[in-house]
Parts: sequence; structure tokens; C-alpha cells
Amino acid sequence: MLLIYTGGTIGMGCNRESGALEPLDFNHLISCLPEFAAIETGIDSYQFTPPIDSSDMTPRFWSQLVRIIADRYDDYDGFVILHGTDTMAFTASALSFMLENLTKPVVLTGSQLPIGQLRTDGKENLVTSIEVASAHHDDGTPIVPEVCIYFNGHLLRGNRATKANADGFNAFESYNYPHLADAGVNITYHEEHILKRDFTKKLIPHFALDPNVTVFTLFPGVQEQITRHVIESPELRAMVMRTYGSGNAPHHPWLMRLLKEATSRGITVVNISQCDAGAVEMGRYDTGFQLKNMGVVSGYDSTVESALTKLMFLIGQHNDVNLVRSNIVRDICGEITVTE
Ligand code: ASP
Repeated sequence: MLLIYTGGTIGMGCNRESGALEPLDFNHLISCLPEFAAIETGIDSYQFTPPIDSSDMTPRFWSQLVRIIADRYDDYDGFVILHGTDTMAFTASALSFMLENLTKPVVLTGSQLPIGQLRTDGKENLVTSIEVASAHHDDGTPIVPEVCIYFNGHLLRGNRATKANADGFNAFESYNYPHLADAGVNITYHEEHILKRDFTKKLIPHFALDPNVTVFTLFPGVQEQITRHVIESPELRAMVMRTYGSGNAPHHPWLMRLLKEATSRGITVVNISQCDAGAVEMGRYDTGFQLKNMGVVSGYDSTVESALTKLMFLIGQHNDVNLVRSNIVRDICGEITVTE
């Protein structure tokens, strides 16, 4: 198993001058975890130098993670990535698209309290993640051959997870998809919810991402001029639009005009809901149906993290906007439930 340490609270300590938490290196982390000696057989490690707070995560680091995994793919049965919680769901979503035909576990975890603190949640998260990444069936195939997040007793699909709590130990939720496993005294895997993989296929790592995307949130009082600046930005190639309820937007003629102009220019606009749970259904209300007529496509029950990274991935792969649009509404690796 390969343990990749990118940084995050789990390995942080207090800066003496500011008193603020900052990432420390992997040796510090291991020194706080005497239990590691008992489990480290068969575990190699790789650390980001320097380790980062995940607020500093970028698409370039995602490509670096894909490179680390792809180069060592045949040497390990599974991968655990230690990562800050703030952007963990973005990283997990991006990796799920970039690691095509993944047949091994890639488990992201971290903690809300540094591993050196008495009440830390880091030890259990780390030790159980290692167990999940090593778990296999009698025929040797892994139980969880997908990118996932383990946190506070629950294993979630990575591209369905979202950070939902800034200070509780239950930092992550998966509102629109069931848990892949729950850990108590035993770990119970919900195999019916875990991706079925073709183990004869070879991993296809993708490194290219195009970050010329944005997230636009609707709200009562949204202004035309400000919206125009965003949508008419010459670099923009795709946009996630966070609409109301089941995918609804106000009847502002200027908004419809701007969206129509954007989609005609080849910008992909994906409609996802501002609600945590539930899905977009653009035919349900006229306020949603009008978006369909402007060329906006449904993001179904996608998280914002997944819709955004899927767009970066697709526009990084395809110049043809029709290919981007036909793939965005397709379930690539369990990230959406296609309903209409
Ligand atoms: N700011 C930290 C990070 O995301 C928070 C955490 O790890 O929980 O790196």
C-alpha cells in the first residue's frame, strides 16, 4: 500500500509565533502515531514537499497525484491519500475522472484535529483507511476499487462527497448517494453501492485539466452587469450554475439572453441545485424549462465539486463542445444519477 501525504490538519502543528496551525512533514506525523509501527509492514510513503494546507490545492497537484499513482500502480494494491478536509471533495472528484478504469482503492482521509492532539480523530481515520485500502475478496480483487473518502466511520464515494461541517468530526456527507461502507466494531461494506469494475482493463491516467471554468450562484436580486462580466469573460469555457430547488431560475429576459449567447458561443453551462439533497429536473417548472431552451444542460444530482472538476476534465480532453456536452450528462464513474 502506498500512503501519500499531501498535508492538511492531520499532520499540522502550531506555529510558535502566530499560534495558527501549519502543515508539518511526514516524520512529525509518524512520530505522533506510535501505532504506525505495528501496521507499517507493506506500507510505503510519499510526501509532498512541502506539505500543504488543502486551501492551496490546485489542478496541477491533481495531475501530480495522478502521476504518482499511475507510475506506481502495479507496485501497490491500494493507495491512501492524507489530505486537508477543506478541498478533499474536489480532489476526490477530480481523481475519479482522471483515473479511468481504476481497479484499485484510492482512499482519501484527514482529520479535524491534528494527530498529535489527545482527542484527535486522525488516528482512527488513518488506520481504518489503510484497512479499507487493503480489503479484498477471496479471489484477490479489492472490495472498494474506486476513489473514496473515509471519515468518522463512513466510507463515501469521492465524487458524491461534500464537506458539510467545519468543526464536527463528521466533516463529510454524501447527500445523494448511500455510504459505501460503515465502520463500527466491524467494517460493513455495502457492496451493492460500490462500483463494479472490469479488472481486465488497464488504468488510463489523464493529466490534462482546463481550469477556465466558474461557479455562478443565483440569488434574488442578481445583477445583470455583474453577471455579464462573468459570462462574457473571454477565457470562460464552462460554468456550473447553482439554481434554486429542482433547477429553477428567475424569468429575467437579460439572464436568458446572456445564457443563450453563452451556449451559442460554445460555453457549456451545467445546471445543479443549491440544495444539498435532491436533483435538477428542468421540465418540472417553467422556471427550469426556460433554461433547457437556452441550451443549459442538467447536472442532475451532482455535487458542485463533482460538476466543476468534471467540466475541467472534459474541456481538458475535448475541444469539441458537443463532446463536452454529451459527456457531462453521462454517468462516467458513479457521480450522477441520470433520470430524464
Ligand atoms: N485547512 C485544513 C486543510 O484543508 C483543514 C483540514 O485539514 O481539516 O488543509
